[in-house]
Amino acid sequence: MTDPLTGLHNRRHVIRHLSRLLERRESEDPRIALLMIDVDHFKDINDTHSHMTGDTVLVGLAGRLGEVLRPLDLAVRYGGEEFVIVIGGATQREAEIVAERLRSQIEDFPFCVNNEVQITVTVSIGTAVCHDDESPEELIERVDRALYAAKRGGRNRVMTASPDRSRALPMPPTV
Ligand code: GH3
Ligand code: MG
Ligand code: MG
Repeated sequence: MTDPLTGLHNRRHVIRHLSRLLERRESEDPRIALLMIDVDHFKDINDTHSHMTGDTVLVGLAGRLGEVLRPLDLAVRYGGEEFVIVIGGATQREAEIVAERLRSQIEDFPFCVNNEVQITVTVSIGTAVCHDDESPEELIERVDRALYAAKRGGRNRVMTASPDRSRALPMPPTV
């Protein structure tokens, strides 16, 4: 259930957590937002520096998520350089604001490795808020499509999953 590198929970845990939240959505706050984060060009970090430096960046990223999120939000390491965040009680707009805050915090503050190398990292993020009848797998599939759209759109950006389950929309400009 726990990822040994970052100390975050792992993919199996997030599926269970989501299933429990979705089961209770009729009696409790039904709004559940998901963020899926993928590091941009992470392979280049490994290739330019080293796999160990890449690992240090992943640990740093996990820490950065912890700084930005609230205690009740769940952050998990979903795969190699992918993270998923579950935010209970959030609207789509709130999820986008958290995602944009994470994106800019990661871009604006490079990671310092071994007290010498400063590595600037960017991430692409998909966001989605669950539908009434959606399963954890369907919600994850939709947020994954939004993430893919963020990659295709040029990376280092937030994209919102379309409610119609088949498209992803760009995040509206912040006023
Ligand atoms: P994109 O912007 O399209 O996401 O490019 P990318 O290079 O991040 O994507 P790609 O999926 O090609 O590469 C992901 C890399 O992440 C490849 C793999 O070696 C690396 N990786 C996966 N898990 C770990 C890990 O635990 N530690 C390190 N250092 N690297 C990892
Ligand atoms: Mg990836
Ligand atoms: Mg990547």
